[in-house]
Amino acid sequence: LVSRKKKPEDTIIDIKGEKVGDGNTHYVVGPCSVESYEQVAEVAKSVKSKGIKLLRGGAFKPRTSPYDFQGLGLEGLQILKKVADEYDLAVVSEIVNPAHMEEAMDYIDVIQIGARNMQNFELLKAAGDVKKPVLLKRGLSATISEFINAAEYIISRGNGNIILCERGIRTYEKATRNTLDISAVPILKQETHLPVMVDVTHSTGRRDLLLPAAKAALAIGADGVMAEVHPDPAVALSDAAQQMDIPMFDTFMKELEAFSTRK
Ligand code: PEP
Ligand code: MN
Repeated sequence: LVSRKKKPEDTIIDIKGEKVGDGNTHYVVGPCSVESYEQVAEVAKSVKSKGIKLLRGGAFKPRTSPYDFQGLGLEGLQILKKVADEYDLAVVSEIVNPAHMEEAMDYIDVIQIGARNMQNFELLKAAGDVKKPVLLKRGLSATISEFINAAEYIISRGNGNIILCERGIRTYEKATRNTLDISAVPILKQETHLPVMVDVTHSTGRRDLLLPAAKAALAIGADGVMAEVHPDPAVALSDAAQQMDIPMFDTFMKELEAFSTRK
């Protein structure tokens, strides 16, 4: 059902008026983890000032180590919702447990399914059973075909509002946290009718590569870019090495103007 052969025209996903897939460039920006109201609000203010609608933040964090910060859970979603309402933004946040899906509906506008859960089939089914848009990330070592099949799990349950997100894959290369598979973007655009975004933060894992990676993503035809921004990355509870601070984010957006499409 996600195949372009079945549906030649692009799917456009309406998220509180933001129409992802309409040919314009869309941004999903916010901290890696929700840490406090003040932290999210500071980022939201900057996001809003740039005309960006989609605010991200992790409340349920799928951390590699059980000893790392696991997120604020429901309290994190409540903070996101409060800030989003104040700034008229839409919330993108990851859900890791099918049992949380219903409860999360009150707080989230876009359900993120993270790389580590791309083949959590019960979670995919649960996301397929709700009406909210889903931002589905490519698995750590998933082939494009496996990625497309994961989206098929969601759409086959009746939810076709899916944004695919390339976030880098595991290779032998150690210079970056993951290897951004930039060619996945046009392949996914050719093979499916779904919008495709690129997460520059988790694919590179390097602050100095965020801007060139975003330029490449937009030049190759991505519908949007995801990036993490924190008021003080040095003290961030997760991904301290690659989140942008607000002045850097200002420059990032300015530099991307020429690469962004605004019809
Ligand atoms: C995230 O976006 O918060 C995240 C954990 O990314 P990924 O699932 O791509 O690692
Ligand atoms: Mn992160």
